[in-house]
Amino acid sequence: MPHVMTVLGPVDPSELRFTLPHEHTQITLWHIQDRWDYWELTRDEEIILEELRLFREAGGTALADLTLPGTGRDPAWLRRIAERSGLHVVMGGGWYRTAYYPAEAMIDRRSVDSLADELVAEATVGVGGTGIRTGILGEIGTDKPWLTPAEERVFRAVARASRRTGLAVSTHAVLSDVGAAQLAVLEEEGIDPGRVVIGHSDSYPVLDHYLSLIARGASIEFDFLGMSSQPQERYGEGRVVDLLLELLHRGHVDHVLLSQDVCHNGQLRRYEGNGYTYLHTTFLPRLRERGASEAEIDRLTIDNPRRILTIG
Ligand SMILES: [Zn+2]
Repeated sequence: MPHVMTVLGPVDPSELRFTLPHEHTQITLWHIQDRWDYWELTRDEEIILEELRLFREAGGTALADLTLPGTGRDPAWLRRIAERSGLHVVMGGGWYRTAYYPAEAMIDRRSVDSLADELVAEATVGVGGTGIRTGILGEIGTDKPWLTPAEERVFRAVARASRRTGLAVSTHAVLSDVGAAQLAVLEEEGIDPGRVVIGHSDSYPVLDHYLSLIARGASIEFDFLGMSSQPQERYGEGRVVDLLLELLHRGHVDHVLLSQDVCHNGQLRRYEGNGYTYLHTTFLPRLRERGASEAEIDRLTIDNPRRILTIG
């Protein structure tokens, strides 16, 4: 039976309406070598629940939390968040990028199949002894505009796990066309490109890049939406809107996902950020203003994330 695997168990895909496919509900990114800032999203449960309440009130029904081991993934936290918020929460699996690979994962010492076996077990049995299962592989990334040897191994393992479980793969590909190289490794492993989402595509706003990924069958994700209110980023968003409208015009509505990648306290409404509701409050109204139809917006925010999260 086709289903979406949430942290509270499988649900019928029709339960998912408006869905954010790339978010975090807590994450720590500052602890690695040579990072001198203190980038994190709080683990204060009451603060996050208030933010999620606003999302639910706006019409949100589900989100995928792509926080991975090495940046604080916590199945028990996600289960509590799901129970208390009333949202469907899908947990990601895999490893983020070289700088964040946890030593205990031993990425460079184990075979690719051994890594894949672990990802399959998380999707079919659960993480550790929790019984809480992953419902997507991601976010799987690269530190730089190329894949390190360790990252290539992780991408191969993720592709094999996707083939064995049906889980989709969501990537982290910033400020370059590295998503094309990520997709190439996944393709070499025989993945169904329809199960691949190249994330952070709005950080590299180049139409030909998008078209080539889509021609290969993958989806792209604009998921830095509303991340900052800086004037230059607002300018940048205008370009993203132009590109998105061009993709819609060319009939590619089924190959684009939208999200906000909340991963820093400054993004919370409590601290005058845009929270989990930027699509509702700002981005989608802009799209409508520019002529996107309600049917197209539903495809982008309901059907596409639902299809990506549906297994079997
Ligand atoms: Zn993210």
